[in-house]
Amino acid sequence: MMDASGALRVMIVDDSTDDAILLAENLKENGLTVVWQCIETSRQLQEEMRENDWDLILCDNDLPELDARRALEIVRRYRQEIPFIIVSGGISEEDAAELMKLGASDYISKHNLSRLLPVIGRELRDSAMHRDLAWANQRIGSLVRLDAASGLPNFQSLRDHLDAILKKGEKVALILVEFCRYGELLDGFGHAGESQLLRAFSGRLSGFNHGGFLGRFGEHVFALVLPLENGLNMEDCGREIVESFRKPLRIGEEELFVNCRVGCSVAPEGEREADLLLSQAEAALQCAGNPESGGFGIYMHGMEERKRKKLELERAIYQAVHNDEFSLVYQPQFDLATRRMVGAEALMRWKRGGDWVSPAEFIPLLEETGLIIPVGERILRRACEANRNWQLQGLPEIRMAVNLSAIQFRQPDLAGKVRHILDETGLDSRHLALEITENIAMYNGPEVISMLNELKMLGVELALDDFGTGYSSLAYLKHFPVGKLKIDQSFVRDIVADKSNEAIVKAILAIADSLGLTVIAEGVENLEQATLLEACGCAEVQGYFFCPPVSEKELEGMLVKAREQQLSGQIQNLP
Ligand code: C2E
Ligand code: MG
Ligand code: MG
Repeated sequence: MMDASGALRVMIVDDSTDDAILLAENLKENGLTVVWQCIETSRQLQEEMRENDWDLILCDNDLPELDARRALEIVRRYRQEIPFIIVSGGISEEDAAELMKLGASDYISKHNLSRLLPVIGRELRDSAMHRDLAWANQRIGSLVRLDAASGLPNFQSLRDHLDAILKKGEKVALILVEFCRYGELLDGFGHAGESQLLRAFSGRLSGFNHGGFLGRFGEHVFALVLPLENGLNMEDCGREIVESFRKPLRIGEEELFVNCRVGCSVAPEGEREADLLLSQAEAALQCAGNPESGGFGIYMHGMEERKRKKLELERAIYQAVHNDEFSLVYQPQFDLATRRMVGAEALMRWKRGGDWVSPAEFIPLLEETGLIIPVGERILRRACEANRNWQLQGLPEIRMAVNLSAIQFRQPDLAGKVRHILDETGLDSRHLALEITENIAMYNGPEVISMLNELKMLGVELALDDFGTGYSSLAYLKHFPVGKLKIDQSFVRDIVADKSNEAIVKAILAIADSLGLTVIAEGVENLEQATLLEACGCAEVQGYFFCPPVSEKELEGMLVKAREQQLSGQIQNLP
């Protein structure tokens, strides 16, 4: 209402500076603190209305270049509620009445200013009320349509926009972009920073807006509605979005690495249902979470069914954790030179109803839901117990390998937990190996390296699983304090037929040798593969050819046999 010093900002539209001074003096004499300015052309008036905030306009009627009617028109174009009082030397009653119909607040004669102050008082009160109302209306409108934290249109606006566009029959694509690890980013960044975080996300996304619509779909999901007329390629656009987030986001002084996945649906010809398009894009987004998707999915028929099944599985998995339905099988690992069993990998199994669920299905779900943390701990304890029990029976000592998911590294006291389990079960740390994959670095911060070092200090062996399939194996190798590499099955599978796989395996063996690491090949399925691996100098093997994953009892039986063979001095009977 007033300027910062509390003065009333008055614009006087008059071609006579003397009259303007007299007016201002009158206001001051009546106790008002005013800052004022006199202008006399329409250009000046427009400029002032556009750029400055005035509380009151006092306007003469006849100026050489501007009359009160024209001035009123300009003022009302910019501001509806500002008091506009005509202060004129000679305006007829008819003209004055006409101007008031057009929106002037009142008129006063220059020769009798006694009404000026009461009129100003009345009009300022009215104007304040209008202003508050207008502000409240605008605020309510924007609260209903805008998401306060991101400053973007909210879900309701998105739905309305889609509805309107589909009704017009325009061809559009809906792209949903979900930011992974949002909760964690928020934890690290502080909830006070949520708005900054969201605005940084949306800032980067706005580069893909192509004159379309950008809004907030859900807590950490944004939506783009893009017109398809100008030959926009959905797949390129989706992949570019994923790619663009490989560069860090800058928020103040901080650089943040965020991952996103993208799901996209295109309205089929004649489709008018916004909700259908939304649920199809959601289904595509779910599929974008599959490892092979590269973080991008386009809706295809049948995806909703998969989404529904996944939701069902998610509900069941909570129950399964509660009922402790997960069990372990053990797959032996052998030393090729001595033909002895030197280790076993513990692999998780889940029987749901009467059917086994594939680990490829339930492990990612345990990870997504964070349930892998309690379940992983139970599994680790069980595997350590099993190994200790075999040792207590005097069976040959082996090393138990347990898979650790990247998510488990989010527990700051992971090493403490592992030590506690070793203490509880009485297993010596050298009889435990932890299998990790390179993605632990991708999903965790630099502190993961010191956690690995803590684990190594405990004396457990660290093995890098699925080696060769990650992004930059060599770069990570330098930093990861691992003692063993597990050559991924994909290289072993074609090692005999495909010379380049043989070359890769040889290269891995050479690197391991120079870094002082041991190597195990997984997924060995036949004699040819085993023979070639042995010839290449691979020390250890694991695979169906030697033994599939077996139950605890079966493995115990194998160890009993191995002890008997050892006692009778025989070499273990491998295929
Ligand atoms: P992984 O750790 O690389 O485990 C090796 C997988 O290869 C196992 O699959 C095993 O059954 C399979 N396999 C063994 N020999 C052969 C063979 O000769 N040929 C072929 N084609 N496959 C072979 P599985 O049990 O289905 O487990 C799949 C993945 O699930 C594991 O891959 C691991 O990443 C994960 N996983 C399993 N158990 C756990 C667990 O307790 N915790 C965590 N975090 N992940 C687990
Ligand atoms: Mg493994
Ligand atoms: Mg593996």
